[in-house]
Amino acid sequence: MILMNDFKAEPAELRSAMLVAVSRVFESGWFVLGREVEAFEKAWAAECGVAFGVGMGNGMDAIDIALRSLGIGPGDEVITTSMTAFATVLAIIRTGATPVLADIDQQTALMSIESARRCITPQTKAIVLVHLYGQIRKMDAWTELCTARGILLVEDCAQAHLASTNGKMAGSFGAAGAFSFYPTKNLGAVGDAGMLVSNDETVVRRAATLRNYGQSVRYHHPELGVNSRLDEIQAAILGERLKWLSQFTVRRRKIADAYFKGIDNPLIECPAAPESSQAHVYHLFVVNCAQRYKLQAHLQKHQVQTHIHYPIPIHQQASCLNIARDPLGLANSERHAATCLSIPCHPQMADAEVDVVIAALNSFSGD
Ligand SMILES: *Cc1c(COP(=O)(O)O)cnc(C)c1O
Repeated sequence: MILMNDFKAEPAELRSAMLVAVSRVFESGWFVLGREVEAFEKAWAAECGVAFGVGMGNGMDAIDIALRSLGIGPGDEVITTSMTAFATVLAIIRTGATPVLADIDQQTALMSIESARRCITPQTKAIVLVHLYGQIRKMDAWTELCTARGILLVEDCAQAHLASTNGKMAGSFGAAGAFSFYPTKNLGAVGDAGMLVSNDETVVRRAATLRNYGQSVRYHHPELGVNSRLDEIQAAILGERLKWLSQFTVRRRKIADAYFKGIDNPLIECPAAPESSQAHVYHLFVVNCAQRYKLQAHLQKHQVQTHIHYPIPIHQQASCLNIARDPLGLANSERHAATCLSIPCHPQMADAEVDVVIAALNSFSGD
């Protein structure tokens, strides 16, 4: 089976480096928020071209704490899209703010700026822009809109490690960027992990407090925070995995290139090409097909695993039916959710496996 992710196929050299890093943590006798976390915070912030990083327990907390550190809470509205991981919206809700769902652009599945404009009210305090599937686009339009309307921009970079446009990295455009290092992300731990990145020292200091019970110095709690600390073992492992990230990203891009060149089936729509070679890190390669479930079964028969990101848009989730949204509706999100299918695109895939996926897609004939 050609899998969506295959960690067991990773280089033995990486595996042994991670084991050495883990032993180093054992030897140190220090397990939560220590030197390994600080080193990885610095390393990841530097990769992002941002001054500071604050390690978190996961990506959802990084979004939540980014918003709270920017002073967003009850009474405020935060715009994001209906086509994202549930965590994006759940994080907004957890701050006490009100999420408002914008529609996506049909070509890219990213937030439509026209739709976002329709969602703006006097209560709008922030936009959480999701670099979905690993693509970053047209940031000027977003930063200009946010500046003009006095809205804070927070980037959900959970799928976009090392994506960049005009030489600027995902996570460096807004007031803060939130990363997840969940195992399946382009840079993943062997458990949960996340990070907030920002150039704003006040935001960073507040975030570091909020992740640790709202504690400023030991046993002093000026705020009510949460427990979302990053542990030393995950940080040490992430430091080792970071050394491989750029070559893994190159491999993802090569696979995507092969898909763009090789997929040739009128029933299957390839994703929009990225604006530049660095603007997409192919966390996911997502095709659209009107007969999505038939295509999924066909691929399964040809030993190709697929997933769906995401089958249900947020506004159709049972817990979110009453959520505020673009007054013109969210038709593009609904159409995308009904037709999208993610095909394998991970750095351990061999060329021969890429060819098998392409052949299987091209042999699909529908009903
Ligand atoms: C994975 C993901 C998150 C949440 O990250 P966790 O580490 O799982 O909490 C948020 N947003 C997007 C777009 C994601 O893909």
